[in-house]
Amino acid sequence: MSGGKPTLARPVPLIAGVSRPVVTPLQPSVVYAADSPDMLDAQYEGRVEGFTYAREGHPNAAQLAQRIAALEGCAHGLTLGSGMAAVTSVLLGLCRAGDHVLGSDQLYGRSLRMMSDDLPRLGIATSLADPTEAASFRAALRPETRVILVEAVSNPTLRVADMAGIAALAREAGVLLAVDNTFTTPRGYRPFDHGADVVLHSVTKLLAGHSDVTLGWVAARDPAVQKRIYDFAVTTGLTPSPYDCWLAERGLLTFDLRFVRAQATAAALADALAGMAGVRKVLYPTRADHPEAARAKGMLTGGCNMVSFEIAGGRAQANALVQAAQGLAFAPTLGDVGTTLSHPATSSHRGLTAEGRAALGITEGFFRVSVGLEDPQALIAEFARGVAAAQAV
Ligand SMILES: *Cc1c(COP(=O)(O)O)cnc(C)c1O
Repeated sequence: MSGGKPTLARPVPLIAGVSRPVVTPLQPSVVYAADSPDMLDAQYEGRVEGFTYAREGHPNAAQLAQRIAALEGCAHGLTLGSGMAAVTSVLLGLCRAGDHVLGSDQLYGRSLRMMSDDLPRLGIATSLADPTEAASFRAALRPETRVILVEAVSNPTLRVADMAGIAALAREAGVLLAVDNTFTTPRGYRPFDHGADVVLHSVTKLLAGHSDVTLGWVAARDPAVQKRIYDFAVTTGLTPSPYDCWLAERGLLTFDLRFVRAQATAAALADALAGMAGVRKVLYPTRADHPEAARAKGMLTGGCNMVSFEIAGGRAQANALVQAAQGLAFAPTLGDVGTTLSHPATSSHRGLTAEGRAALGITEGFFRVSVGLEDPQALIAEFARGVAAAQAV
């Protein structure tokens, strides 16, 4: 007790003697005190490590970034407030008016929207190409192309990109290759091992894995490129919350176990669905009937936790399936511990015309499944119930 004497508003924190915590401490501090102006100089010049102001970096973000970097096989990385913050920091942090960005025509919906609306508004030209054919990317390259943005496996049709062909093209043309590795995860595919210059994630999905945080991550092979992404993110305030980073780090500790389990169940579910009456088509990258099965087998060495399928019929059948399979969360996300079912025609792809959806194979009977950690047989039984109810309509 201070015996009536006023205490300092910011006392020196208590330290636990010789003990140290085994769990990462949550550190919400926005500011960090330095020992001296000399020390601050040393920090800003990178001679010593430290923090100053949370928008520029904080311990929980740094710790999470380091763990994801280890999974992706790179030396550093940056945690951001969302997956879209990662996409934004790459496209706006690295391009200027007059540049051209070439993207896959099967990118995540909001990435496509940034390509179609926001970049052109700022004078950055964009075009889209079919990622399953590197020749399609070659044809769309321009002298002013600055960045190529692709996902190795597309959502929701699970087409497998010609990553080797696109990487070779990017190298030859001197264009930065950025890979959104959210869907595949570093367990399924490691872009830096295959020629990527930049890798980004929606940590919201499989890496954090519990649908309770929104976060992103980005890393560039070249430190100068990383610095430009970092400066853009700090200036525009794409900062993550310490609490979200802390939760995501906790989730990440079981990522490997969760992925192994989910992808094994996904492969079993894909085979079971293919045998059900009323299922017209199953899409699973490494199944023999997938259009890029051979490429997927060479590329996705760790598997994939996503399955898509199409049932016979239309909206009425789709409604019946969702209502009968109450054990599955009907929710447009992926990578949760629980299996989630999405209906792209009424969610992610509702902005397209029916013809546009048909061109992608997304009908009213088309579903995408993110497989979670349930008992595999119980999960298959739940799908069988849903598919049978759809057939009975
Ligand atoms: C969800 C997702 C994003 C966006 O991530 P948020 O964390 O929701 O901002 C980007 N890319 C892919 C492939 C995604 O699945």
